[in-house]
Amino acid sequence: MTLTTKSKPEISQQTLNQYELVVGIEVHAQVLTRSKMFCRCATDYAGAPPNTRVCPVCLGMPGSLPVINRAAVEATMKSGLALNCTIAETAIFARKNYNYPDLPKGYQITQYEYPSCEHGYLDIDLEDGSTRRIRIRRTHLEEDTGRTVHVGQYTLVDLNRAGVPLMEIVTEADIHSPEEAYAYLTRLRTILRYLGVNSGDMEKGAMRCEPNISVRTLEQKARGEYGTKVEVKNLNSFRSVRMAIAYEMERQIALIESGGKVEQVNMGWDEQRQCTVLQRSKESAHDYRYFPEPDLPPLQVSRAWVEEIRAQLPELPIAKRDRYEQTWGLRRAEADILTSEKLVIDYFETAVAAYGTNDGKPQRLANWLTGEFFRLLYTDGDGQDLRQIADAKVRPTQLAALLQLVDDKVINPNTGKKVLEIMYATGDDPQQIVAREGLAMVSDTLVIDDAIAAIFAANAPDLARYRAGEEKLFGFFMGQVMKATKGKADPNAAKQRLQELLKG
Ligand SMILES: [Zn+2]
Repeated sequence: MTLTTKSKPEISQQTLNQYELVVGIEVHAQVLTRSKMFCRCATDYAGAPPNTRVCPVCLGMPGSLPVINRAAVEATMKSGLALNCTIAETAIFARKNYNYPDLPKGYQITQYEYPSCEHGYLDIDLEDGSTRRIRIRRTHLEEDTGRTVHVGQYTLVDLNRAGVPLMEIVTEADIHSPEEAYAYLTRLRTILRYLGVNSGDMEKGAMRCEPNISVRTLEQKARGEYGTKVEVKNLNSFRSVRMAIAYEMERQIALIESGGKVEQVNMGWDEQRQCTVLQRSKESAHDYRYFPEPDLPPLQVSRAWVEEIRAQLPELPIAKRDRYEQTWGLRRAEADILTSEKLVIDYFETAVAAYGTNDGKPQRLANWLTGEFFRLLYTDGDGQDLRQIADAKVRPTQLAALLQLVDDKVINPNTGKKVLEIMYATGDDPQQIVAREGLAMVSDTLVIDDAIAAIFAANAPDLARYRAGEEKLFGFFMGQVMKATKGKADPNAAKQRLQELLKG
């Protein structure tokens, strides 16, 4: 087989338009449980010395018996329900047999013919404002493998990860652009994190993506035919998924256009060279010889249990976003950002509870949070990870108090931004900062009048020009008043006094 990693082929838009991209995605998501899938070993393997989170069960010792982790089953049910799946009354664990150094038993326990969840869907928003439904074929439960580490000429095996519960979430081939794949994955991660079933930490391997990618001509589509699928294995960032799909689409179309044939293979993504590379041919793929795991009973899930889990489901981010829009009048843009992370949702909702929902308050809060506050968070923190909000010194109730000071005209909005910066650095209460720094807004007309009198005296020629009809000088005088009061004048009071006194 010759599959070269040539630079990105050039294809005209006209040619691209004659094809449809068809993508399905498998996501492997580690389930956040304290212990492993079939034994009591801890799952906190990150940073642990190799092979210190192991026991006879996850090492595959003869005679050891697996026991199903109830928490992992419930997390999978929760995810399945959030993804609108049917929860099977009976799920069956099976052995998937293959030999690999990171698989101590020589097989992986997974669900094959009878998965826990099937026939769901997830709606995603596209950039043009439309919605697309991505069908979820199945969500099943299995165990993670160990890891191999290459050191010089040796390959070392660390089995701390072997047996960590893993959910596999598989879509139908409903994705038709790299952007749709990105939107699907982003939303899926938000939901899993929100449910607390997965950390979403892709860099730590807690979520791994495998898109299968094919293209077909519009004629093939009309006949209901599909192209040959190429699977890209183990992508650990959504950005790589998007790029790998875009790259494969163009590679496959170029290949077909030049008279070639797409081979069914597994590829990897070379981040440095920004291209897909051949891993192994699927023709030589293992025959996994699946059979029901004899050491585990069928997993029986009563309808009462399903309903119990359903009742525990929190309001999901999409529902929250819609509610913020419909009930609180938030704009879509802010509602989207605020519901992208559980920690941000929690922060926003606590602040709203303290601040109030009347007179457009939630939108005002959303503006401050996504504007000034996130700017401080981004500048201060490590990249654009909004989860840093959990460590911010400004508590939600303090932010609410700050906005209330602005509403009550104790400070003007510009001073509010200054106060927020100090709150962000110190964690002090806004009232305390305003008092300490003497930032309270000056609405006392006597003080404002004094300032205006001094300004008139110092700028007599300008005053004469204004009074002669040059009204655009009003802005100049207004600026002088704000300057003289160090920005603390109540802008409305200052404007009103200035208008009156300029008349002479
Ligand atoms: Zn174990």
